[in-house]
Amino acid sequence: MSEKQAFQTEVAKLLDIVVNSLYSEKYIFLRELISNASDACDKLKYWSLTNPDIKVKNAFQITLTPDAKDNTLTISDNGIGMNKDDLINHIGTIAKSGTADFVKNIKDNGSAIDLIGQFGVGFYSAFMVANKVEIITRKADDKKAYKWTSDGLDGYTIEDAERKTNGTDIKLFLKEDAKDFTDTVYLRHIVRTYSDHIEYPIVLNLGKAGDETINTASALWTRNKGDITDEQYKEFYHHISKNFDDPWMTLHFKAEGSIEYNALLYIPSTAPYDLFQPDRQQSLKLYVNKVFISDKVEGLMPAYLRFVKGVIDSSDLPLNISREMLQQNALLAKIRQGTVSRLLKELKKRQGDYEDYLKFWNAFGVAFKEGIYEDFSNKEEIAALSLFASTNDDTKLTTLDEYISRAKEGQKAIYYITGDDVPTLKNNPQLEAFKEKGIEVLLLVDPIDEFWTQVLTTYKTFDVKHISAADIDLKIERKDKKADEKNLKQLTDLMTELFKNEVGKVELSEKLTKSPAALNVENGQMSIHLERLMRNHQQQTAFASTRVLEINPYHPLIIKLSEMISDDANKVRITDISRLILDQAKIAEGEAVTDAAFFAEKLSDYLLEAL
Ligand code: ADP
Ligand code: MG
Repeated sequence: MSEKQAFQTEVAKLLDIVVNSLYSEKYIFLRELISNASDACDKLKYWSLTNPDIKVKNAFQITLTPDAKDNTLTISDNGIGMNKDDLINHIGTIAKSGTADFVKNIKDNGSAIDLIGQFGVGFYSAFMVANKVEIITRKADDKKAYKWTSDGLDGYTIEDAERKTNGTDIKLFLKEDAKDFTDTVYLRHIVRTYSDHIEYPIVLNLGKAGDETINTASALWTRNKGDITDEQYKEFYHHISKNFDDPWMTLHFKAEGSIEYNALLYIPSTAPYDLFQPDRQQSLKLYVNKVFISDKVEGLMPAYLRFVKGVIDSSDLPLNISREMLQQNALLAKIRQGTVSRLLKELKKRQGDYEDYLKFWNAFGVAFKEGIYEDFSNKEEIAALSLFASTNDDTKLTTLDEYISRAKEGQKAIYYITGDDVPTLKNNPQLEAFKEKGIEVLLLVDPIDEFWTQVLTTYKTFDVKHISAADIDLKIERKDKKADEKNLKQLTDLMTELFKNEVGKVELSEKLTKSPAALNVENGQMSIHLERLMRNHQQQTAFASTRVLEINPYHPLIIKLSEMISDDANKVRITDISRLILDQAKIAEGEAVTDAAFFAEKLSDYLLEAL
């Protein structure tokens, strides 16, 4: 009895992409299928150790059987196997993150190879080399076996089959131009190059000549560092992360002391597409004594290090441990503390090489900075490892320590300003006095910056302060003319009245040089940028900060306006121009003007007059 089933609508499109965009790297299919076979053995190993009804009779093994006469290659394992539901749910559909997402990401990024593993479409790479794939499989708790067949074009069939024991055989009917994959010399070469890290024996079935194990077949993370080549580390990274980039950092160590564990950790060199999706979890694999437990253990890595890949293996944890128990496990917390501090130490070593470190920072810096906010005990260290744009140098990011080394005599704070982007921030009028005095200011443009600056209020002996809270003397020595006090008072009174719905206060400022006015908030209140962020996320701000319009009494425009104020005939002009000044201050802050139509009309009126 066989039933024909259609592929999910987008699978066909996907197959086309996988097959065509990866064609130059055909051998990838083999490492994907071996990787799946190894996962299947992991799963059964864990299942048998936690469930007394499941018995494992033979040692785990992955077998490659080439047949040059029939032009087929079969990849077999004695792992967990699949029942009918598994075949439909895991093979017939691309369930994990959705094919639509995959296709969209290829369109956006143009590279299938970086995404093939992340999206769990590894199995489909078989169709790069085969025009027909036959799976015969039997699940470990089942007596029935099934055969799944597909040409990778329009669908698949599932029928009943025979298999003596549990496990899976994947038989590939090779395309004309993929005949190399029955060549044993070539197979040996690919397996040694790309799959040597697999901990189960990969056996080449040579027919009458017998069997030959072609890999090292021991868990890589348990081997001595000195016995592992860079290539092997890299291939293991590809296997475990399902990424195809090279790791930016490889960290392999054995922790000894109150709790013992092996850790093999990687930081990728490129960020995953979903780094900032809220449901993204940490993805380290937890093993207990070489038995794979889970790659979804909450709390194994803090969220700000969610991009770290790899394996942690401890024999001190109980094998039969539920996920809920894991979360509360005190040993786990110790492992986390230990690995986090090793990672931070290692990052520190790499920080000296700016160009190299920048690669890490550009990929993961924004996520990493969340740690200043989240990880109380390491916040100062994480801050020290962070890079920031600053007014000091357009071409280079700075660390806090470098900032401090450039601080002016008597300067007691690290100053920052927050906004949407660096170019706009650089022209913010609030910076004018700082520029004049040669005081460096950090330009913070990531939403997370608004949050960590709330918790890191000091760094070493320095305060960390928004420039609006600066308590240093920012008065600039002036030789230029200042508007008359009495007139100014009248002008600010008028503006206070005019703008009473928009700003709480109009004040004179000694800190502006180029701009006639600037918008600020009352000291200590939520910054304009944070308010805007919260508005954009539909978060009602319970109370809005009091806006302060700061007026520059040395600016020719302000001087002129204040001189005109005693004559009632000027009322309309003064009102219009005051409004334009407020709008200008809003724009410099990244805010929208109050009334765009008014702004456009008045601006062109006055421009015309000036011509
Ligand atoms: P991934 O390995 O990322 O999950 P794949 O496309 O490689 O994605 O495989 C899809 C799924 O098919 C696997 O998650 C697994 O459930 C199932 N599968 C594939 N190969 C085997 C196998 N040899 N034994 C058991 N299950 C398998
Ligand atoms: Mg896979």
